[in-house]
Amino acid sequence: MERFVVVHYHELALKKGNREYFENRLRLNISKALEGCGIQKVRRLYGRLLIELSAEADMLEIRKRLGKVCGIAYFAEAWSCARDMAELERNAGSLIEGRAFSSFRIEARRADKRFPHTSTEINQQVGGYVKERTDARVDLENPELTCWIDIIEQFALIYVERLPGPGGLPVGTSGKVIVLLSGGIDSPVAAWKLIKRGCTAVFVHFHSFPYTNKESQEKAKQLGALLAEYQMQSKIYLVPFAEVQRHIMVETPLETRVILYRRYMMRIAEEVARREKARVMVTGDSVGQVASQTIENIDVITRAVQMPILRPLIGDDKNEIIDVARRIGTYEISIQPDQDCCSLFVPKHPETKANLAEIERSETKLDVAQAMKEAIETAEILMEYPAYTRGTVRQV
Ligand code: ATP
Ligand code: MG
Repeated sequence: MERFVVVHYHELALKKGNREYFENRLRLNISKALEGCGIQKVRRLYGRLLIELSAEADMLEIRKRLGKVCGIAYFAEAWSCARDMAELERNAGSLIEGRAFSSFRIEARRADKRFPHTSTEINQQVGGYVKERTDARVDLENPELTCWIDIIEQFALIYVERLPGPGGLPVGTSGKVIVLLSGGIDSPVAAWKLIKRGCTAVFVHFHSFPYTNKESQEKAKQLGALLAEYQMQSKIYLVPFAEVQRHIMVETPLETRVILYRRYMMRIAEEVARREKARVMVTGDSVGQVASQTIENIDVITRAVQMPILRPLIGDDKNEIIDVARRIGTYEISIQPDQDCCSLFVPKHPETKANLAEIERSETKLDVAQAMKEAIETAEILMEYPAYTRGTVRQV
């Protein structure tokens, strides 16, 4: 028996015209994600991918990494077996042997219908064989152990443990987005949602150094590296925002500062998006979560720019967002303390119902063109890679 990893995807199969393109991208992404894990080749085969493993393949590491490759619905460590009923019985039996279970089912599928036995016949025959040798009962609804048998052209694949992938679409199939990444809980989750749908996220983080320390930048880098486990690499712009903020502080009323900070952030991010040839921006806003996220303020902030702003968390509750953050691994980084640039010199009770005309009047008094230009020109641009590639931080 040869050992493989079989990878399944579902949504890709729906994209008829583009199917080959999506499958190829997934294949490339898997090869890249599994660099150094001892894999030989990734093959497309009957609506699934087959990863050929070398003898030294590090299955534990492979599991960890594949769990983060977008586009994968599920995957399994599988063994090949000749397309012969006696061989199927024997190999399924030996794969199951030594496992403790009191109920099981065999779940056969014929991707290649030329195989002379139907799925039901395979289930019954192999099931009977296993039952005799284990005295476990067959339970089709809720078995403790399922043994899958896939009949493909060259051989059969047998496996007993399916592991979930993130689902979604392969990264690189859905275009580039600019994500406004704070050090908080929400924006990394917003980024992940777009990455999961096949987008490449480029991050823009605003900081107020030297008014604040460098913690928020450090967090942005760590979040970028963590999210790089899903998208292979993360480009991050660390934008110095202090000078723009200084103008806003000196020249405009206290209550509307946060809204003005946000409008200028959007403008700078829009310029980064133009340079990066990205078509949309993404934030972690959710309605009413904080003062800057009332419908009125969202309206006024959005009107600072032309480019669409996607807000994938807009209807989520905080606990729902936290659940995702925990699952994807960003939560622990996000809860580290930092000094966010938007909490700098802002009132306790900021404006919650911004008035566009009033905000625009404030902006006409502001002379920030030069400060904005400098913010963009002096932004530090980094590329972050997953920790398993030795956490390389390279200047680009
Ligand atoms: P988060 O948890 O993402 O920080 P939040 O609940 O703290 O969100 P806000 O601080 O109002 O909400 O931020 C709303 C959104 O604005 C963030 O999700 C993020 O997309 C963007 N944003 C806020 N601060 C920054 C920053 N310093 N750099 C880049 N983007 C930011
Ligand atoms: Mg925040």
